[in-house]
Amino acid sequence: MPFSYSQLSTYRTCPKQYEFASIKKLPRQISAGESFGSSIHNALAAFGKREVESGKMKEERAQLQLFTEPNTSQVSALSSQLLTDLWHQSFITEGYASKQDADAARAKGEVIMKHFYAWWSQSPRDVITIESGFKWESPDHFTVSGRFDRIEQLADGLHVIDFKTGSVRSQESVDSDLQLSIYALASEHLFQAPCTKLTLLFLQEDGIIEVSTSRSQEQLDTAMQEMNDLVTGIDTDVFDPTPSASVCGRCPYRGICDSAEV
Ligand code: SF4
Repeated sequence: MPFSYSQLSTYRTCPKQYEFASIKKLPRQISAGESFGSSIHNALAAFGKREVESGKMKEERAQLQLFTEPNTSQVSALSSQLLTDLWHQSFITEGYASKQDADAARAKGEVIMKHFYAWWSQSPRDVITIESGFKWESPDHFTVSGRFDRIEQLADGLHVIDFKTGSVRSQESVDSDLQLSIYALASEHLFQAPCTKLTLLFLQEDGIIEVSTSRSQEQLDTAMQEMNDLVTGIDTDVFDPTPSASVCGRCPYRGICDSAEV
């Protein structure tokens, strides 16, 4: 059975939390932050899919030589208004404590969509895939599944972009991020091309912040060893809790966990 990055991340955060979620499969409520993140991802996925379709239509038309002047109608159809409309269509109301909270999140998302559109419009983009799932088999014979938010083609390779709605992270943290290492390994395998740039795109109410990095072979080897250690722990049923005030404070199972530190 493949492991998702989210499962590996949960196990790394606290093995007991992983046991509650993935072994005992205890239900939990979606938080407001998770709900907002899902709405943002859904809106940008819908916009990105229109972008891919627009690119394909342009290519087909070019091949059929049906126009002699640059056709900008499809690109201009990818407007800021379209993105705003997609945001409202994608908004999930679940997870908020009140209608006021949901309305505030909806308004915040509308601002973020405008910032994203400005970021997206800055330069021509050769998008390869949007919101596509993958399965990557490690040399140690376990499989990791995941989903690319967005991959663009650069002159020297692939650029994997992951959308984040949480707090902006430091360059040091992004340089050692396990999820980005998995994306590098999986994208290179899937597209048979070097992954030369990895970006966490932080979608904030006051603007878009790009934190980019890349991976050396040594870093990828370290990531594979880390994944191997996590999978070995899961496969050998090591689910000891690793409580701390910060981790337990965000844990959806703190109400039923005997080890919770809250
Ligand atoms: S409450 Fe704390 S110790 Fe218990 S599962 Fe959650 S993170 Fe782990």
